[in-house]
Order: sequence, then structure tokens, then C-alpha cells
Amino acid sequence: MGVRIDLHTHSTESDGTDTPAELVATAVAAGLDAIAITDHDTTAGWAEAERAVRELAPPGGFRLVPGAELSCSCPDGNGRTITVHLLAYLFAPDSAALVAEQSRLRAERRTRLHEMARHMAADGFPIDPDGLMAGLPPDSPGGRPHLARALVDAGTVASVNEAFARFLGGSGRYYLPRTDTPVHRAIEMISDAGGATVLAHPFATARGPVVTEEVVAELAERGLAGIEIDHPDHDPATRERLRGLAGELDLIPTGSSDYHGTNKTIRIGQETTPPDSLDRLIDRCTGSKVIG
Ligand code: AMP
Ligand code: ZN
Ligand code: FE
Ligand code: FE
Repeated sequence: MGVRIDLHTHSTESDGTDTPAELVATAVAAGLDAIAITDHDTTAGWAEAERAVRELAPPGGFRLVPGAELSCSCPDGNGRTITVHLLAYLFAPDSAALVAEQSRLRAERRTRLHEMARHMAADGFPIDPDGLMAGLPPDSPGGRPHLARALVDAGTVASVNEAFARFLGGSGRYYLPRTDTPVHRAIEMISDAGGATVLAHPFATARGPVVTEEVVAELAERGLAGIEIDHPDHDPATRERLRGLAGELDLIPTGSSDYHGTNKTIRIGQETTPPDSLDRLIDRCTGSKVIG
């Protein structure tokens, strides 16, 4: 088998179930050559993941790409504003603007999660909102998967997916929105911090509304470096369309699992990025170094 690179994974620092060290161990055990750690709105997992690479991986045999996933607001091309996700790679984690924005987002995410849990508890669901929040790592963003998991543990639903379908999805009764970063500002902040951005799962229609191709073109003009094509939420026809778009707009094509541990059924390395795409991303970045 060729080189296998997975550039989109989550740890317990956001809403995955592997600690950062376990994430690296899982990737090494799965025979992957490189992963990116891309927790939502935090770089808190980088240090532990880096230590794990030095301890667990053969020297030169495995690479870790420090990254994050940013929730952004974006015009959808049809007159509405929607949420899109940007994967940000190899930026300087101490960039002041970025530190401030990520800390604002984490605080807002925590307040929102607590609020969603309190609404459910008030309606009689067997949820302990304060206990849920106390179980999160300090200053971690938390996310709907934590509430979904609590509903599974309470026996209210059979799976995280069912919790989203019935209660927590964008049109669910207990869904609350966030004030995300405007996408142009996010692209600019990551560029200023020496990093590169990739539009995550651009056409994952099962998750909610998506942007038009014209919007992707406009983001490319604003400095977007790549688009995630091979993602579990893209069907074969969507992938072909995105591959055409990447070619037309000279965007770096990536593929990744969006691994969340046991919060999703997807395996790490289930989707992969061509080695040449990782090289192109690294070439654009000066903010942080690849580990290993
Ligand atoms: P939040 O960050 O709180 O808005 O929650 C979004 C997270 O929930 C993302 O990591 C998604 O991958 C995950 N998610 C969204 N929809 C679903 C779903 N239907 N089933 C499982 N996880 C989902
Ligand atoms: Zn997530
Ligand atoms: Fe995402
Ligand atoms: Fe993700």
C-alpha cells in the first residue's frame, strides 16, 4: 500500500474520544504515515500529540501536522449566511488575533452546550448539565457530540447519530446557533499566522446547507489553499465535481476521515490525502513545523 495521510482528525480536546496521545497511537497502529490533528477551535492537543509522536513512532517514520478546524460564517451564494468549516494547518499557535478569536469561540461553545443541555434537562430528559460540563477538559470547546453521548449513556437514544437526527441537528428542537468567525477573516488570520486553509467537506449536503461553486471560487481568490474532496460525507459524484473545481481553481485537493473516535463509525485513514497535496500545503506554510 502507498503512503497514507489523513489530514482531519479530532481528539478529546474537542469532540473526539481519543486523547491526543491515543490519536497518534491509533494512527501509528493503523499503519498511517501522517495525520493532522484538527480539533475544533483549539490547539491544546498539539503538545501531547507531539510528545506521543516522539515516544511511539519510529524516528522519521511518522509525521504529525499541527492544525485546527474553524467554524466560520459564510455567504452561501444564494442570499443566505451558513456555517462552513475551515481546516487550518501549520499556523503559529501564539498569533494574538487567533488566540483571542479561538478563546472567544471556546467560551461561546461551552455556554451554548450548557444551555442546550439545560433545555433538555428542563424538558425532563435524564441529563445532568453541570456534570456534562465538568467532564470536559479545562478550556476545551466541547460540542454537540458530548451531549449526544450523554443521551446515549442515559438510554434516551441508541446512537450519537440518532441524537443528532432527533434533537441536536440544525433543525432539531434543542439546536442553538453560534457566532462563528466570518470566513474571509478566518482565512486572513490563518495566513497572517503563517498557515494555510482548506475548506472542509464543502458539499456535505447531509449536514445542512452548502455553498455554491462560485463561493468556493471567491474563497480561492481570498487565499483559500485547498478543498477537502475525499470525505465520508461526499458521494462519488460530489467528489468528481469537487475534483473538477480543484483543477479549475488550482486548489490543493485533500482527503481525510474526519475521525472522531467512537463518536462516529468512521475509521482513521478511511480517506486519504495524496502525498503531493501535503507537500504543496507544507510549502505554503511558515507558522509551524511538521513533527517527525
Ligand atoms: P458542534 O461543533 O457542537 O456544532 O457539533 C458539530 C460536531 O458534531 C461536528 O464535529 C460534527 O462532525 C458532529 N456531527 C454533526 N452532525 C452529526 C451527526 N448527524 N452525527 C454525528 N455527529 C455529527
Ligand atoms: Zn467534531
Ligand atoms: Fe467539520
Ligand atoms: Fe471535523
